[in-house]
Amino acid sequence: PVNLYGELRKNSMGVNFSNDNELKAMADAVNANAGPWAAAPLVPGATASGPTVQVTNPADRRQNVGSYVSADSATVDKALGNAVAAQHGWDRLPAASRAAILEHAAEQLEARRGEFIALCVREAGKSLPDAIAEIREAADFLRYYATMARRLFGQPEQLPGPTGESNQLFLNGRGVFVCISPWNFPLAIFLGQVSAALAAGNAVIAKPAEQTSLIGHAAVKLLHDAGVPVDVLQYLPGDGATVGAALTRDPRVAGVAFTGSTDTAWAINRALAARNAPIAALIAETGGQNAMIADSSALPEQIVKDVIASAFQSAGQRCSAARVLFVQEDIADKVCTMLTGAMAELKVGDPGQLSTDVGPVIDADALKILVDHAARMDTEAKKIGEVALDPATTAHGTFFAPRAYEIPSLATLTREVFGPVLHVIRWKGSELKQVVEQINATGYGLTLGIHSRINDTVDYIASHARVGNCYVNRNQIGAVVGVQPFGGENLSGTGPKAGGPHYLLRFAGERTLTINT
Ligand code: GLU
Repeated sequence: PVNLYGELRKNSMGVNFSNDNELKAMADAVNANAGPWAAAPLVPGATASGPTVQVTNPADRRQNVGSYVSADSATVDKALGNAVAAQHGWDRLPAASRAAILEHAAEQLEARRGEFIALCVREAGKSLPDAIAEIREAADFLRYYATMARRLFGQPEQLPGPTGESNQLFLNGRGVFVCISPWNFPLAIFLGQVSAALAAGNAVIAKPAEQTSLIGHAAVKLLHDAGVPVDVLQYLPGDGATVGAALTRDPRVAGVAFTGSTDTAWAINRALAARNAPIAALIAETGGQNAMIADSSALPEQIVKDVIASAFQSAGQRCSAARVLFVQEDIADKVCTMLTGAMAELKVGDPGQLSTDVGPVIDADALKILVDHAARMDTEAKKIGEVALDPATTAHGTFFAPRAYEIPSLATLTREVFGPVLHVIRWKGSELKQVVEQINATGYGLTLGIHSRINDTVDYIASHARVGNCYVNRNQIGAVVGVQPFGGENLSGTGPKAGGPHYLLRFAGERTLTINT
């Protein structure tokens, strides 16, 4: 596709699922890369370290995947010092040189795809299709931000000089950026944040989610191998209380890119604001309470197919996932019956098998929240469907059977439930305005699905719903880099959108140079 700035760029190709040889190669790669992997902070000159954490496979907790050494406070301090010293030199490099390194990393990532897919399956419990998509999205981010860096940072903007002066506007890195990434897209969002911050000329300290520290380590090594200096990009695994909090209260930090919960985004915002330091940039992508609205003009088959994908793919562990289906009462019985039937076809199990639709959830804490929510729904709501779990494949992992419940209103849901649980609410044709108001009243604004063949209805919803990504007559997950810039409004995030043409600007500062010629 031609991007908004008129440059040619291709999205990564992925794997042809109808080609048995390609599929077998992927499955073989997962089998050949069984770990164990080992990781430790990548901070030049640091020797001290914190506790070692063992990593187990979410699909089978008996299986050790590897271990990582956490960073301690001395390592955090050393990393910040290194980053401050290294940033200016990196910023002074031509943007085209930084872009070439990122593009080289994208090529290497695709060349070593099997190993990264194996890591995503084994550490994050990603299904094979999700793991393949993860590698593609990560490669897309690397290439997209490289293209944008050339475009935006390549040369200064020449401005008018009516009095004979020369005026130029330069974009430059802000300084040290901290990237705090989530476990649900441990490679794509991790590399997206990091490559954007690097492309704009910042030194980066990357703190992966604790659950996916091994993938973060492999991603940082990939960028080092591609040519990013080791003091320009450092890796600090560890828990939020030790590593994240130490970073966000430090006055040397110029910006933070964060993806995760709204609560953590508030905590980061408060920590940054409490510093006696220049006001930092904060880019936060947070939660959602995402709805799909279907009216009686929509095709039930299509609604069911798209809501199943939106609610249950990736075990519902996407911030874009559909949590609530508002279905017009005229077609509600039919849609619910079809939903029950379609859910009975879903296969939960080993994420390394191609026949698996839904893999495990990330850890025991996530599972407990889901189990508690289901217990509440079992007493307060009407169950529409629950997928059967096969103990032979799920007994030793953190698996949760996808479920759907009918609830009276959105008020029943007090918080985002991050997993494969769908809630269905019936609405009357005269109530469209109230449906949109209920959705806006959640305060979140990430994704919204619309299923309707009435243009006025689509226009009304799309123009009144305060959401970042609106999808009509399709599923509402899997935004494509450079094609569907992704990110929410209000409680769902600060913007700018990841994979969009304005993202890099938030990582940059601006300088005006006026010369009296
Ligand atoms: N970009 C992903 C999607 O469109 C969601 C990202 C997230 O869950 O944080 O599905």
